[in-house]
Amino acid sequence: MKVTFLASESLGTRSMSTMVKAGRVTIIIDPGVALAPMRYGLPPHPIELERLGEHWNRIKYAAASADVLVVTHYHYDHHNPQEPEVYRGKTVLVKHPTSKINASQKRRAAFFLAQIRPVAGSLEYSDGKEFSLDDVAIRFSHPVFHGTSEKLGYVTEVSVSYGDSTLVFTSDVEGPSIEDQVAFVLEENPDIVICDGPVTYMLGYRYAYESFERSIAYVSRIFRETNVKEFIFEHHLLRDLDWKEKLKPLFLEAEECGVKVETAAEFMGLENEFLEANRKRLWKGSETS
Ligand SMILES: [Zn+2]
Ligand SMILES: [Zn+2]
Repeated sequence: MKVTFLASESLGTRSMSTMVKAGRVTIIIDPGVALAPMRYGLPPHPIELERLGEHWNRIKYAAASADVLVVTHYHYDHHNPQEPEVYRGKTVLVKHPTSKINASQKRRAAFFLAQIRPVAGSLEYSDGKEFSLDDVAIRFSHPVFHGTSEKLGYVTEVSVSYGDSTLVFTSDVEGPSIEDQVAFVLEENPDIVICDGPVTYMLGYRYAYESFERSIAYVSRIFRETNVKEFIFEHHLLRDLDWKEKLKPLFLEAEECGVKVETAAEFMGLENEFLEANRKRLWKGSETS
C-alpha cells in the first residue's frame, strides 16, 4: 500500500486529501482543499492562494488516474462541487446526504450530488458499509460526530485493507475525543492511521480542555491496543504552532510503544509548511519586502 498526501495543513492548505494505491486500485479520500477565510483577523496571504491552486491541480491530476473517490462529509476542504468533471467515470463513495447530517451539509450534499450524478461511473452511500474492489477492502464507520458534538454534523471514518496492511483515515473527528470515533479505529486494528487531531488552537473556548484530555487518552489507546506503526497527525491540530509542545506526553507514549508520529509532510520527507498558522508572519514579511 502506497500513501501520498495531495494537500494538508503541513503542506500549506486546509485539507486531508490522501491518495492510497493498494494493488491495482487507486483511491483518493476527500478530493478537496480550502483556506481559512480569516485567521488572526487576516485573509489568506498570496502564498497561500498560490498553494491552494497548486494543491487543487495536484488533486485533479491524481484523480484522473484514480479508480475510487471517497467523500467523508460535505465541507469544502473535503469536496469541490465546482468541478464535477473530476468525478467522471469514477466509483464514488459518499457520506449519506440526508441521514445523520446537519442542515448546512445537507444543502451542500444535495447540490454536490446533483452536479456529479450525471458524470460519476457509480455513486453509492458509504455509511457503515464495506466495498471490495479487486483484492482491496474499503470499510466505512457508521457516521460519527464531526468533532465533539452533532452541531457540525457527522463524518464517516474510512479503512482500506490490502494484503496484511490496513490504513485508517479518521476524517474530521477533531481528536478523537468521542468513544464512538475511536471504536472504529480500534476495531480495524490498522498499522497506519491518518488522524485529524484535537483543535488546540481553540483550546478553552471552542474546544474544551476535557475534549483535549480525552483525545490524548484515546490516541494513547490506539498506540497501545492496535498494530499501528505510523501515526499521521493532521488538519485541525496543525493550525496550532505549539501543537508538538502540547502533545508532549503523547510523543513519549509513542516512543514507548514503537509508534512513529509524523505530519503528512514529514511522512513524505518534506519540511512542514504551516502557512495558515504562520499567516501573521507571512503578511508581516510582505509588508517589509
Ligand atoms: Zn469538516
Ligand atoms: Zn476538514
